[in-house]
Amino acid sequence: MVSSRVSVGVSVVAAALALWGCSTQPYYVAKPEPWRADEEQACLTSGAIRESSFLQSRSALGGPGEFCGAHRPFEMSAADQGRVSLKPAAMLRCPMIPAVERWVQLVVEPAARAHLGSPLTELKVAASYSCRPMNHVSGGRLSEHGHANALDISQFHLADGRVITVKGGWNGDVRERAFLHAIHRGACQEFTTVLGPEHDALHHDHFHMDLARHGRDGMNRICK
Ligand SMILES: [Zn+2]
Repeated sequence: MVSSRVSVGVSVVAAALALWGCSTQPYYVAKPEPWRADEEQACLTSGAIRESSFLQSRSALGGPGEFCGAHRPFEMSAADQGRVSLKPAAMLRCPMIPAVERWVQLVVEPAARAHLGSPLTELKVAASYSCRPMNHVSGGRLSEHGHANALDISQFHLADGRVITVKGGWNGDVRERAFLHAIHRGACQEFTTVLGPEHDALHHDHFHMDLARHGRDGMNRICK
């Protein structure tokens, strides 16, 4: 369906330096990436997602001349028809939504029942849309968060009241560890980038998941 694999010409424009806000704020490096708008539009017209009380469209993020943003982002406050809350609600571009839904329904909910014996009720959203450089390092490449194409999750709440944290559980209790490692592995089936505590110290307390394109054909995946 999505034919944007056809490259829209390798841009000869040198990486543009986007100065964001006043000089004391971090700035990022970005370049034109026409595939992003094509991919978002293809998702919007595909009928892959439907608005509901848990998924509401919002006005465009970013603006002319800005690299950050999304044409028609969505605020997602729950997955699996309201059974699993996202708190606070995540601001995401269209292609992220089916990926998050599949991860929650096919991976996280079954893993919570299998490893922890209780239904999943809530995900703690540590970050979604944020116009900033990667890892908040000034001068770095624009993060996928800047395109509303990334989601960070730090906690998992269960119906019995337990809260499983990435920070405490990754190397913690054997059942929590099994749960967290299983859903990290499962995320790699749905997202093109998955970073957890084993990637680096910045990810010691959350999973980062995004739909960036990696490699020359954009088909590579990063799962760490
Ligand atoms: Zn992140």
